[in-house]
Amino acid sequence: MSRKIIEIKNLHKSFGKNEILKGLNLEISEGEVVVMIGPSGSGKSTFLRTMNMLEVPTEGQVIFEGVDLAGKGVDIFKYREKMGMVFQSFNLFSNMNVLDNLTLAPIKNKNMPKVEAENIALKLLESVGLADKADVYPQSLSGGQQQRVAIARALAMGPDVMLFDEPTSALDPEMVGEVLAVIKKLAKEGMTMVIVTHEMGFAKEVADRVLFMDQGHIIEEASPEEIFGNPKEERTKDFLSKVL
Ligand code: ADP
Ligand code: MG
Repeated sequence: MSRKIIEIKNLHKSFGKNEILKGLNLEISEGEVVVMIGPSGSGKSTFLRTMNMLEVPTEGQVIFEGVDLAGKGVDIFKYREKMGMVFQSFNLFSNMNVLDNLTLAPIKNKNMPKVEAENIALKLLESVGLADKADVYPQSLSGGQQQRVAIARALAMGPDVMLFDEPTSALDPEMVGEVLAVIKKLAKEGMTMVIVTHEMGFAKEVADRVLFMDQGHIIEEASPEEIFGNPKEERTKDFLSKVL
């Protein structure tokens, strides 16, 4: 049994009177790939954002590597560095070239020597197929290339977990594959990941476990074979009938 890396216990999140997450429980083991699916507005992004405390839970716990992140005196910045996050919009720094995008945080937040940060960055760019783009500015890249830079930038901090929130939703269809390929490669290398996606074929291929969320609840949680081949819950069946 591998080590638990994230434990979520009775997680609730409200915005004002509006309860968005209604008591979620989840354990993620080291090396596991968990894919979250569900209708728009079901709370997937909010759930991801509470995992690294971009949203503070109203109730419940997020225990990351044994530490309750909502606990008093916890240095959340230290832990957030261990959770790389990639969003739908790439959010690269447009006033910096690709290399500087990757080295900024390691140099500034981790006090990494510049040469070491650049060596790591160049290796990561190579691993996402962009070794020749170190010197260019983000706006000269395609959407798919920018998103691969964003992934490399998150990896440059040496995270223990990667969180992806619809990483291909803003891309033209012909660029989806190149980004999914990078994520698949990370899965093969054993990276622990939580991925929100509408790409069901990709989910089937990459997930160890699939969660179906609806209206702030985890409705069903199973292997991709089970969820896609033999869903148990009516709401899961209904959702899948619309997207597959
Ligand atoms: P999903 O990612 O599944 O589409 P979200 O987590 O983005 O769902 O949103 C779930 C609900 O929470 C939506 O109704 C959304 O309007 C609401 N919500 C999300 N973030 C905020 C916020 N910062 N303030 C108020 N409401 C929010
Ligand atoms: Mg979302």
